[in-house]
Amino acid sequence: MNPCPCGYRGSTLKACRCTPDQVARYQGKLSGPLLDRIDLHIEVPAVSAQLLLDAPPGETTDSIRGRVVQAREHAMQRQGKPNQALQGAEIDRHATLDAAALKFMHAAAERLGWSARSTHRALKVARTTADLAGASAVQAAHVAEAVQYRRALHAAE
Ligand SMILES: [Zn+2]
Repeated sequence: MNPCPCGYRGSTLKACRCTPDQVARYQGKLSGPLLDRIDLHIEVPAVSAQLLLDAPPGETTDSIRGRVVQAREHAMQRQGKPNQALQGAEIDRHATLDAAALKFMHAAAERLGWSARSTHRALKVARTTADLAGASAVQAAHVAEAVQYRRALHAAE
């Protein structure tokens, strides 16, 4: 979704002329319970066509795919299902956080006012982040990345 009705809120390309009221109404269209069910919230700033054309080539899709397939296989071997399908006690069993990661997750959940569902979803994303990094335990850095994926829209309020 766009950040506001005109699409330029927070952009350096063009000034946004939406009123705070219009922005609040627009963002309010996505209800909390619906947002809760979307695992990854990522803010993508608008870029000029020139910047896009001048950008150096990034990592290839093939190489990224390789890492994703490997992480998924890891999860399947560990628990017989992808991380996204973990439920209840399975999350506690397979997405074990070390002490620092646990502290970080508690602080984030409290500060961002997460529901139990949001927290569980973030835990599963953290498990995936750890799998992508080839780590057996979920560490604070993995939790920090997962937290970022659930805060983009809140930070824009
Ligand atoms: Zn706007």
